[in-house]
Amino acid sequence: MSKIIIIGAGGVGRVTAYKCAQNQEVFTEIILASRTKSRCDAIAAAVRSDLNVDIRTDQVDADEVSQLVELFRRHEPMMVINVALPYQDLTIMDACLECGVHYLDTANYEPPDEAKFEYKWQWEYQDRFKEANLMALLGCGFDPGVTGVFTARAAKHFFDEIHYLDIVDCNAGDHGKAFATNFNPEINIREVTQKGKYWEDGNWVYTEPHEISKMLNYPDIGPRKSYLIYHEELESLVKNYPTIKRARFWMTFGDEYLTHLRVIQNIGMAGIDPINYEGKEIVPLQFLKAVLPDPGGLGENYEGQTSIGCRIRGLKDGKEKTYYIWNNCSHEAAFKETGAQGVSFTTGVPAMTGAFMMLTKQWTGKGVFNVEEFDPDPFLDKLAMSGLPWHEESDIDLEM
Ligand code: NDP
Repeated sequence: MSKIIIIGAGGVGRVTAYKCAQNQEVFTEIILASRTKSRCDAIAAAVRSDLNVDIRTDQVDADEVSQLVELFRRHEPMMVINVALPYQDLTIMDACLECGVHYLDTANYEPPDEAKFEYKWQWEYQDRFKEANLMALLGCGFDPGVTGVFTARAAKHFFDEIHYLDIVDCNAGDHGKAFATNFNPEINIREVTQKGKYWEDGNWVYTEPHEISKMLNYPDIGPRKSYLIYHEELESLVKNYPTIKRARFWMTFGDEYLTHLRVIQNIGMAGIDPINYEGKEIVPLQFLKAVLPDPGGLGENYEGQTSIGCRIRGLKDGKEKTYYIWNNCSHEAAFKETGAQGVSFTTGVPAMTGAFMMLTKQWTGKGVFNVEEFDPDPFLDKLAMSGLPWHEESDIDLEM
């Protein structure tokens, strides 16, 4: 019995719309709104044709609180799933407070003029959401998102103390393009070109970009070179699990991808400061985004799978224990079901699952929360039923 608004009509918005439409008993009315309404209309038409479910569409510039407030007043939703860009997180949260709407997103706020993601801006909304009797769930994609829930499952069922956490993210897919990013190119390139950072013995340790790498074996995929990068869930996980001595995040990159990235950086195309081009201000990275393949359109020839999981070491009943929990997702299967590739799929399914937990009151609270603060079990059951089954193994070599 809940009306929701999804904001953002990229690959993730598409999967979220499909998955909400598949759970109509909870998401009884779905509105998809974005900056470009025609993209919402195309998704709504596909959902109508594939699932026989009607989704309404609307237009909004989510950088403008006043437009968001008008959108919310027009539709009176119970909650918003924000799958636009991280730049819009705070404006959407402001509008939620003004209109009494619950909030969920998949990526933490980043100021457009500084490539830096931190939870501090959104955590500052804690008191305001609490006073308004509203819940905001932050970072409910796969990573961040499921990786936090995986860690919560480890803490609930397998460990008294978690000491070492390594989140491992492998995309072994091939989209057949010389260079493309799997989600919004601007956000993706900002993320992977920044300095590496990990948690050790109570401090953040900084590295040069891609300075540390390791060959890791991924289930059903095999060995892949994995690079230590900073990822936002490390910030909330070391706060919520203070026994963690070291927390790191690893992502695989192919040599071809890294070579392109290096060239893009060396020629200044990854820059985020505006430059003057023939009398017009442009941001090089935004211009680059305009000429790169649309991540939402990569699905058709995408082969292979992703594998994302948590490798954990710690203590149970005084004894050292190891544990690995992961999901593999096939790009082909994701595309067949939703018309989007695996990275959009692994983000949109958890976004729907988190909203499902909130609307069915299996996860409740007033204020601003990260996913690991709730019971992982119902979320992981629903996730597996919704297309992302997961696997776990104990007392194995973690390669870490
Ligand atoms: P896309 O760039 O494909 O889509 C973003 C959508 O947001 C577009 O429809 C875009 O509109 C819309 N949008 C952008 N700015 C505004 C605005 N000011 N007002 C309204 N709508 C706007 O991105 P993805 O679908 O690949 O990713 C969506 C989000 O998911 C991103 O925040 C990304 O960081 C996050 N993500 C999270 C992951 C996780 O595991 N946690 C993994 C992957 C992605 P337009 O069509 O006009 O450009």
